[in-house]
Amino acid sequence: METRKVLYPGSFDPITYGHMNIIDKAARFFGDVVIAVMQNNSKSKGMFSLKERYEMIKEIYKYNEHVTVVYEEEIKATIDVALENNCIGIVRGLRNVTDYEVEVQMARINKLVSNNKVETLMLVADSQMQDISSSLVREMYMLNKDVSNFVHPVVKEKMDNKSN
Ligand code: ADP
Repeated sequence: METRKVLYPGSFDPITYGHMNIIDKAARFFGDVVIAVMQNNSKSKGMFSLKERYEMIKEIYKYNEHVTVVYEEEIKATIDVALENNCIGIVRGLRNVTDYEVEVQMARINKLVSNNKVETLMLVADSQMQDISSSLVREMYMLNKDVSNFVHPVVKEKMDNKSN
């Protein structure tokens, strides 16, 4: 059977259990997931370089043949990354109405500028994941709070190495 490959783009600085929840769902419903680690210039400087974020995700999913990871050094349109990777759609996660407003607008624009080629699929965050964000994880960590409920041990270790 032909698999349905979808692109899951984001900053992932760092990847959280919230992102991983969306990746699980996407793999379950669409087959193959390409995670694209992207630069987001509208966001303030985070914690990890693009390459570090990519490597952590690669490590986490190394035994999952349905999940692949790419990273984009240059500023690039998400729809171009989706088309280059033969993805039939873009997956985004929704936590709240703020996400909803931003994501729906992006989804419509992306459909328009791709000449209707790329559709965006929204997956809803499970309730226990709803309050997790990369920025909150970074903030909690800076304040010496335990982040192990929010991130995979691979990420926790990299955060510890960074701060030592
Ligand atoms: P971006 O800079 O593109 O917003 P993020 O890494 O912040 O990148 O998020 C990537 C995607 O994952 C977005 O669709 C975002 O809404 C979604 N997301 C982030 N955190 C969660 C979470 N806890 N649960 C579900 N979706 C999430």
